[in-house]
Amino acid sequence: MIIQTQAITLQIRPWSRTSHMVTWLTPDHGKIVTAVKGACRPKSAFLGQYDLFYTCDLLFYRRDHDGVHAIRECVPNALREPLRHDWRRAAAAAYLVDLTARVTVGHQESAPLFRLLTQALDLLANAPQVDPREVILWYETHLLQQLGLMPDFTTCPHCHPPDRFWLRFSLPSGRFLCQHLAQNQPGEATLSLHRDVQDLFRALCKRVRPSAGEQEFADFASKKNHHPANLVLGLSRFLGMFITFHLDVPSAVRRVTFEMLDTTPTQKPALLENSKP
Ligand SMILES: [Zn+2]
Repeated sequence: MIIQTQAITLQIRPWSRTSHMVTWLTPDHGKIVTAVKGACRPKSAFLGQYDLFYTCDLLFYRRDHDGVHAIRECVPNALREPLRHDWRRAAAAAYLVDLTARVTVGHQESAPLFRLLTQALDLLANAPQVDPREVILWYETHLLQQLGLMPDFTTCPHCHPPDRFWLRFSLPSGRFLCQHLAQNQPGEATLSLHRDVQDLFRALCKRVRPSAGEQEFADFASKKNHHPANLVLGLSRFLGMFITFHLDVPSAVRRVTFEMLDTTPTQKPALLENSKP
């Protein structure tokens, strides 16, 4: 059966000396893998037709016996060229496509996820005023929503009175620790979460797109600045732990990505100065 679809390139892996295995996200067939034979040969019809973060018009023969389909034609329709010139935003995009490849399954309708990833990659490529970290957090909250894995922020009137700011969140049960709402397992993984982080989480979930610019995000983060907690950092840390726990993805990929996106000057020059004799 031949299938025509739009597809976002998630992964390109070498396969033999001249061929590629390409993983795509498609709206109607979810994650699919195609073999591109002779992709690296000088006269290959596929040269320059796909690359990471592209959206392409793809024509492939569906093969069900080994799950690897045969590519017939591929024409790029969104190259997201600015990502080739900005390594920070490319790193953010790489994290998003890697996460998506890890958590999606094949042959499942994925139109909402396809739209979400399209929007996030477009923002990284074409909206330089939006902080890439913000795009990541926005994508992650919406991804959890689509996967049906939302944390439950219900509070208990006895255990979580409004004047208590730091609440203990249980990762396995996906909710705040409480003796009345759920049975706790001894030794279960928990983290403490500032009460206001849940508001930021909810606000991000509701947003159709991340804010128009850094300012709005910065404003949001500092709105409750009477408290020393950095809410955005708190949300990022929470999302990292929640996603690692529930989606079974390695935490190092995310950690390194955020380290690369951190633009605050390092302490290194000062340290070097101090180490002078
Ligand atoms: Zn309770």
